[in-house]
Amino acid sequence: MSKVQYTGTPTRVAKLLKKQKGICPQCKQHFTPDDLIEVDHIIPKSKGGKDEFNNLQALHRHCHDVKSKNDYLYDWLDNGYEWKDDVLTVPMTRD
Ligand SMILES: [Zn+2]
Repeated sequence: MSKVQYTGTPTRVAKLLKKQKGICPQCKQHFTPDDLIEVDHIIPKSKGGKDEFNNLQALHRHCHDVKSKNDYLYDWLDNGYEWKDDVLTVPMTRD
């Protein structure tokens, strides 16, 4: 008997990828099967972020490294970014 099994991606990451439509919010690129994916707290725990699904996002490992160095996503929330349907929505700039 052969069975196709979906392996490797923990449920939480799979849910996040679905929510993000397979796109890394940091670099706006699609994840590929070769990418290393890490789960990030959008609002860092050190700044009062909670360990819950709405505060999590999947990032490329290299993008996570960048974000961790300057946690600007936290500041985005103060600059017009908002939650919509469980997604951190980035306002479009038109000029
Ligand atoms: Zn990325």
